[in-house]
Amino acid sequence: MSYLPTKNRDVEQRLRDEAKSLLEQGRVDYVIGFEPGSLKFTTTPLITNNKDDVDHLVINPFIVNNLSVYLTEIKGRVGIIAKGCDSRSIISLIQDKQVVREDIVIMGIPCPGLIDLKKVERLVGKDRDELDNIIRDGDKVVITVDGQGKEYPITEVLYDNCLGCEFPTPQEYDVLLGEPAPLVTDLTASRQKIEMLEGMSQQQRWDFWKDEFSRCIRCYACRNICPACFCERCFVEESEPQWVLPVPRWQDNLIFQVVRNIHVAGRCTDCGECERACPMNIPLRSLARKTYDLVDELFHYKSGTDKEASPLMTAYEQAEAEDFIR
Ligand code: SF4
Ligand code: SF4
Ligand code: SF4
Repeated sequence: MSYLPTKNRDVEQRLRDEAKSLLEQGRVDYVIGFEPGSLKFTTTPLITNNKDDVDHLVINPFIVNNLSVYLTEIKGRVGIIAKGCDSRSIISLIQDKQVVREDIVIMGIPCPGLIDLKKVERLVGKDRDELDNIIRDGDKVVITVDGQGKEYPITEVLYDNCLGCEFPTPQEYDVLLGEPAPLVTDLTASRQKIEMLEGMSQQQRWDFWKDEFSRCIRCYACRNICPACFCERCFVEESEPQWVLPVPRWQDNLIFQVVRNIHVAGRCTDCGECERACPMNIPLRSLARKTYDLVDELFHYKSGTDKEASPLMTAYEQAEAEDFIR
């Protein structure tokens, strides 16, 4: 199956060469990237110390995972593939002293946005298994079904977070594989769900989230996939005191997400992984992006853009509004 424009194939070959040379020269112990997934139009993370495996590395519009989540788990020096948002998560982890910059070789991928298969399925009214091909071509995408290709604007199928992406080109890298990516944004579409929530009364919003979190099965996929959630022991697993019940009651599910969002405030890079990973399709990005925007508005702080800056929640100034801080 081929869903890569030629330009991406060049980037892919450069990446494989770079990764192989890093392992051969002993500059890294592991390489973290993407290999083809077992399902159509998917990729899966590849973590390897075998130079022959790097020939499986791929770059395509389906490299969805934010691979920085693995950095806190791997011991040794690591070469990692990073899109714009992933690079910001790496910077944030450096700021929080969870990883050391010198131990990481960042292979930056300028990112023109990722394709949301659920949007594709809705757009063409077919299951992904029924699609022949999806080819990105600049600001268009060609979707082929039953041998017939049809062209759509790329903005119709990109993830909401990609449509609102501020930094598609990695903010930190050792090698940049490709030209800086142009922004293909649609801020209206990106903020649609958030604005719908902002337009509700408090009661309506409460009822909305009560309904949503009544469906949460507390699988913790949203937490486990999030690079900003790096506590060794999460507050939900504490037994003394027990902050939330382990059973998925909606009230406890809501508390879990409210506290999680506060914990990742100033660390979240709107990578969209929490919402993508949720098996219950709970619109988690609406909370994450709203918090991201509030952090920006109130503190003029964009997560993961300055590795020398203090993490947001550890820096206080005399001029803080709250008395208890002064
Ligand atoms: S948020 Fe930006 S950098 Fe991240 S995947 Fe989307 S377009 Fe790429
Ligand atoms: S991923 Fe979804 S279902 Fe699982 S804990 Fe998070 S919100 Fe609940
Ligand atoms: S909260 Fe969600 S969007 Fe934010 S960094 Fe974590 S996974 Fe990404």
